[in-house]
Amino acid sequence: MVAPRSFAGVAGCDTMRAEDSMPIRLLSQEVASQIAAGEVVERPASVVKEAVENSIDAGAHDIRVDIRAGGKEYISVIDDGCGIPALEVEVAFQRHSTSKLSSAEDLDHITTLGFRGEALASIAAVSRMTFVTRSVVEPAGTLLRIESGDIVVHEESGRPAGTALTVEDLFFNLPARRKFLLSDRTEQRHVDAWLTRYAMAYPELRFTLSHSNNVVFQSPGNGRLRDVLIAVYGLEIGAAALEILSSGQPESPIGVSGLIGPPSLNRANRSYITLFVNGRWIQDTRLTYSVIQAYHTLLPTGRYPLGVVMVTLPPDQVDVNVHPAKSEVRFADTDAAFRAVQRSVRQTLIEQAPVPTANYSATGWGHEVSGSFADRHERFAGLGSGTDERQLPFGQSTDPGIESVHSLMLSRDGLPPLRVLGQLKLTYVVAEGPEGMYLIDQHAAHERVLFEHLLSDRNRASVASQSLLEPEMIDLAPDSADVLLEHIDILGELGFQVEPFGGTALLVRAVPAVVGNVDASSILEDVAAALLSGDAPLAKNLEELVAREVCKAASVKAGQVMAREEMEQLVRSLERTASPRTCPHGRPTMIHISVSQLARDFGR
Ligand code: ADP
Ligand code: MG
Repeated sequence: MVAPRSFAGVAGCDTMRAEDSMPIRLLSQEVASQIAAGEVVERPASVVKEAVENSIDAGAHDIRVDIRAGGKEYISVIDDGCGIPALEVEVAFQRHSTSKLSSAEDLDHITTLGFRGEALASIAAVSRMTFVTRSVVEPAGTLLRIESGDIVVHEESGRPAGTALTVEDLFFNLPARRKFLLSDRTEQRHVDAWLTRYAMAYPELRFTLSHSNNVVFQSPGNGRLRDVLIAVYGLEIGAAALEILSSGQPESPIGVSGLIGPPSLNRANRSYITLFVNGRWIQDTRLTYSVIQAYHTLLPTGRYPLGVVMVTLPPDQVDVNVHPAKSEVRFADTDAAFRAVQRSVRQTLIEQAPVPTANYSATGWGHEVSGSFADRHERFAGLGSGTDERQLPFGQSTDPGIESVHSLMLSRDGLPPLRVLGQLKLTYVVAEGPEGMYLIDQHAAHERVLFEHLLSDRNRASVASQSLLEPEMIDLAPDSADVLLEHIDILGELGFQVEPFGGTALLVRAVPAVVGNVDASSILEDVAAALLSGDAPLAKNLEELVAREVCKAASVKAGQVMAREEMEQLVRSLERTASPRTCPHGRPTMIHISVSQLARDFGR
């Protein structure tokens, strides 16, 4: 027998005033579906995630995403997957309709990314959606236009096999939710993050991400994770990452693969550890910790590794149905998963990584890179081992104890050794080389030298920072303050120590040592302006963008007298950069007038 329910003494009921009370009734279909939709669709990035998962499940090879205003105005996801047969398209938009699951037992062995049958219905309920699809086995396609969940157009449409989904004005009918969306840039960053995650999880698929029709990221789709990593994080990290060795436990059902950074490439937070379980990106503090644990004693305290770790295990050993967004999972045996990851990563490090001897001095961390890693650096950099890398860019007060590692960038356009002749117009260094005369723009050349040093120091977590004698309070435009705080991690890794100081004010405690005594507030304003104006897509581009502004402010200006030794040191440093012929903004650092051109001009 069921006990009668008693409401006596329920907190809230006693205190509720009569005029507040509402009778209990069923929510309207519309409100109920909006509430349910809110669980799946939190922000533009959720739409992208769900649509991309559907494309992957549909067997697509080419997935293209374009967003405008961080996805708030417009999102389009186009795939070349199997499409949906005309008779099933409308069904796909009903809640709990899926082609991926038919019985409760199926939940035990899910091999697709989707299975809850909620995404299309949810997205359609909170946006204006256009959905065009054609099944590979049918001659014609279908176009649906749906507003707030109501189908307003259903017609035949021609398109190649596959599916194109367009979402406009997300949450236009849920103003409360729309209000909580963050700046375009922040929403865009969430979208970027999802797309790069899926690109890493599925290297055999080609992902293209555009912002307002400009391609900002593309994975090659050649099946090589390393190439995806290069597209996401840049050549230096991509080339240096170590392939995870299989854990060597043939009886274990848990497989671990992926790429991890050598200890020398470490970061100030955990956000560079990316985990996948059976092709699904997950957040899991214990698994993340197992990766960190594997680097025990190899990293300075407060530093974290970077890596992409893929765990595979039989579908019945992991429950993916924990949360509507599906980024949490439960393992049948959490300890086994933890051990497998930790063991594989550790073994990879021991067998492949050069162990950097981190020698802490009063001035900062220095790494002595030994063995195969150093050899690889030499080879990539095309530099002889005799090169004296201790020499610092001219005029810098940076601590000379920090050695810089050769850049991994291929030096395709290296410079011949140059002899400095003098300075022209207090702007150009005049030099001669075996091939003729060189006019070097002192500012652009110095920018290039500082830029490569700064990024290389940053990759080894050894950017020299200089504390201000007195912390400086700077007051900025609201947008500038926002964007700087949003990227406080990147600023920190490049040597800034900045704190929020209430409202639009920031407190600057330290600046990168290279900037010397340049006014901190003017640099930060320039950095903010660059962050705001740029398309600001992926992390590596953001770092470079900040580094460019720092180097622009720190480098010698046109009109400054340079001593001969300074000019010589500048030219020597420039010779050692990976791209000596352009400044970080892409302008030329030098003009070359060849011997033959001189002869021609003199009519010889
Ligand atoms: P789920 O992915 O959980 O099944 P969705 O609401 O995301 O639920 O999608 C419902 C159904 O619509 C899917 O099961 C699939 O059959 C179909 N579908 C959705 N997107 C695509 C697509 N891009 N290509 C082919 N079929 C799709
Ligand atoms: Mg789905």
